[in-house]
Amino acid sequence: MKKLKYERPVIKKMNAGLMNKFGTRTEFQPVKHIDGVPVTQLIAEYGSPLFVLSEKQIRRNYQSAARSFKTRYPKVQFAWSYKTNYLNAVCNIFHQEGSWAEVVSGFEYHKALGNGVAGNHIIFNGPDKKREELILAIENDSLIHIDHFDELYNLIEICEELNKKPRVAIRINLDTGVYPLWDRFGFNYENGQAWNAISKIVGSGKMQLVGLHCHIGTFMLSTSAYAIAASKLCELAMRCKNLLYTPIQYLDLGGGFPSTNTLKGAYLPGVDTVPSVDDFAEAITTVILGYGFKQEELPLLILESGRVLIDDAGYLLGSVIANKRLSDGRRATIMNFGVNTLFTSFWYEHKISPAQDFNQHTEDMVLYGPLCMNIDVVRDSVNLPLMNPGDHVVVHKVGAYNMTQWMQFISMRPSVVLIDEQQNVHQIRRAENLEYIELMEQVPAHLQQFKLV
Ligand SMILES: *Cc1c(COP(=O)(O)O)cnc(C)c1O
Repeated sequence: MKKLKYERPVIKKMNAGLMNKFGTRTEFQPVKHIDGVPVTQLIAEYGSPLFVLSEKQIRRNYQSAARSFKTRYPKVQFAWSYKTNYLNAVCNIFHQEGSWAEVVSGFEYHKALGNGVAGNHIIFNGPDKKREELILAIENDSLIHIDHFDELYNLIEICEELNKKPRVAIRINLDTGVYPLWDRFGFNYENGQAWNAISKIVGSGKMQLVGLHCHIGTFMLSTSAYAIAASKLCELAMRCKNLLYTPIQYLDLGGGFPSTNTLKGAYLPGVDTVPSVDDFAEAITTVILGYGFKQEELPLLILESGRVLIDDAGYLLGSVIANKRLSDGRRATIMNFGVNTLFTSFWYEHKISPAQDFNQHTEDMVLYGPLCMNIDVVRDSVNLPLMNPGDHVVVHKVGAYNMTQWMQFISMRPSVVLIDEQQNVHQIRRAENLEYIELMEQVPAHLQQFKLV
C-alpha cells in the first residue's frame, strides 16, 4: 500500500467551496489539454516549465479586433507591436493576417525585414533610433515616427546628406484624463510643442509629414481616453490641412487595449471589467467619422495593439517543486517558474489551474518561484486545491510581454511551442542551455589557467 505523505496539521479557517466576497463560488476545473493537446504530453516532450501558444486563438483575436474596426470605419490597418512578442513564428501569424510591423528598436526593425515585411509596411517608433538605423529606414521607405526635437534635427541633416524625402509622423503625448500623464514620449499637444514640431517638419521641406501618432498608455481601461486622443489628433490633422496645406494620410492611435487579465489589487476579475475591442473601436471611430473630414479625405486608421491580441493565446505550464509552511502557518508552494520566466506576475494576478485531478480541499496559499530572491512571488495569495511535488499547473493569459521581458537569471528560459490549427505542436524556440548562456562570454588568458588549492 502506498504510504500517505505526512503533513503537519494546521488549524485554519476552512474555506473550501465557500462563497467569495462577490457571492460567486470559486470553482476549479483541472486544465488537462490545450487546444486538444494533453498537458502531460507537452511537458513530457518539451520539459517544464514550457510556454505554449495557440495559433487558433491568435488568429481569432486578430480577426475579431480587425472586424471591430473594419465594420465601423472604411480604412483600417493593424501593425503588430514587436516588443509584445517578437518570436518570428508569432510575428508571421500576424503578418499572414495582414498586419504591418511596429518596431521600437533597430534589432526589431531587422527582425521585421527578416520576416519579409516590406520596408514601407514597417513603422519605426521609439526614442532611440541610431543614425544607421534611420538611414536604413529612409532607404526602405519606412514610416519614421519622430519622438523628440533632437531626432527631428538629426533627421533633417540625414535627409540633406542622402537627398531623400522620407515619410514621417510625430508621436504626440496628450492629456486624456488618465493620470499620471505619459508625457515622456513624443511631443506634447496641450503646450503647443506638437504643433511646433509639425511646423518645423513642414517648414524644413526635407520630409513628408504623412501621419500623427499617439500611444496613450498600456492596459488602458478607459474608452473615453481614446476618444479624447482621437479628437486631439483630428484637430491637429485639420490644422495641418487648413494652415499648412499638408493633408494627413493616417492617424495612428497606438496600442494599449487591455487583455482580460486581472491587475494586481483589482477588485473584480479582468474578464468582468475590461472594455472590449468593440467598445474602443466605437469610441475612436465615432470621433473620427464625426470630425468633419470629407469622405474621400478620411485618414487611414492605424492600430498598434499588442497585449490584447496575444495575451490569452499564451499559457505557461509549470510544476510544483515543494510545499512548505511559513512561520505564520500559511501554506507556501514552490513552483519551477518565477518572476524570471513570468515577468507579468509583477502586474497581474494570473489565473492558475491545476493540470490534474485533485480532491476538493482548497487552501489560501502563496506561490513562490524557484529563485533565491525574496521578490520571487508568482501569486501573493491564491486559493487553490492542494498540489503535490511533481504536479503540473497551467498559468493562463501569458502571451504578451513574457517572451520578450523574461530574464536569464538563475534559471534559463524554457522552450516555447506553438499549437497550430490542426493541433500539431511546433517548437518555436528551444530551451536555453549553458552553451547558449556562455556563447557571448570571453575569458582573458590570465584567468583561464588556475589551480584551486
Ligand atoms: C508597446 C507599444 C505598443 C503595444 O502596446 P500594448 O499595450 O501591448 O497594446 C504599441 N505602440 C507603441 C509605440 C508601443 O510602445
